[in-house]
Amino acid sequence: MPLHRNTTQKTGRSLAIAVVVCAGVFGCATVDQKFGNDAWYQKTREGTAKAADVSTKAVVQAADASRTMAAEAYQRMQKYAAERDLLKTFTDASEHSESVVLEVLHRQQPAKPAVGGAGTRAGKGGKTGTGRASGPGGAAGTAPPTSVAAAPTTPDQYTGSLRWPVDACIISSRFGARWGKMHKGLDLAAETGEPVYAIAAGTVIYAGNGLRGYGNVVILRHDRNLTSLYAHNSELKVKQGDTVVQGQLISLLGSTGHSTGPHVHFEIREGDVAVDPMLRLPKSKFADLIDPEPDTRVASAIAR
Ligand SMILES: [Zn+2]
Repeated sequence: MPLHRNTTQKTGRSLAIAVVVCAGVFGCATVDQKFGNDAWYQKTREGTAKAADVSTKAVVQAADASRTMAAEAYQRMQKYAAERDLLKTFTDASEHSESVVLEVLHRQQPAKPAVGGAGTRAGKGGKTGTGRASGPGGAAGTAPPTSVAAAPTTPDQYTGSLRWPVDACIISSRFGARWGKMHKGLDLAAETGEPVYAIAAGTVIYAGNGLRGYGNVVILRHDRNLTSLYAHNSELKVKQGDTVVQGQLISLLGSTGHSTGPHVHFEIREGDVAVDPMLRLPKSKFADLIDPEPDTRVASAIAR
């Protein structure tokens, strides 16, 4: 039956893929015997082969897009480096009151594990429970933070790495004493519209402009203890209750709230305590341009 063999060779690749797909359902030989001549079965096999091709293309396209984005970020970084003196003046207009942030953190505590779950790994606690409190949700405008239970996926401890919240920027103000008070964040200046990314996977526990002085602000919870905050945005790209993956675009940088110019006031907190982001973030890919005068405290902390 040369004709039959020829056809088999021609569709060899499709068949190989179809084998993988159908093997999990029932024996492929049986399927071939049963449906081999049916038009719908042939179509399914062809469709599977096409899908495999498309997904290969998608991977290549994603890699290309990633390279393009990195190249564009580097171009913006060079521009910002040239404008460093101006960008360094873009910072908070006054010290923020953290009480409004703490209020959100306290309201948005993750649900307690059901029984003796302290210290257990994420994934074990299948706390599907209460879900979201209803409330006048959604209103990401001037409304005060609504009471939303943290997503059931909030891990006890985030064990992954962190990434920078902004790729191209200039450090305009460090964490630490400033104007006789404590600056509990890191100010990263750039042009309005610079993408701001989630430093780690998490849940949006606040997205709006109801926190006095912070402008359009996003707060993410990454685990039971770790949160991050991004203030003064021109535009928010997420809403309260969303889950985000690491590197997801969450907002566009801006100058809303108490601000002297476009920048992100960025905070990392462990529980209620703000920690120096420079001690937590990895080295930026544009470190030499973002931070040409490295903070000696960072070097000593790393050496410890
Ligand atoms: Zn700041």
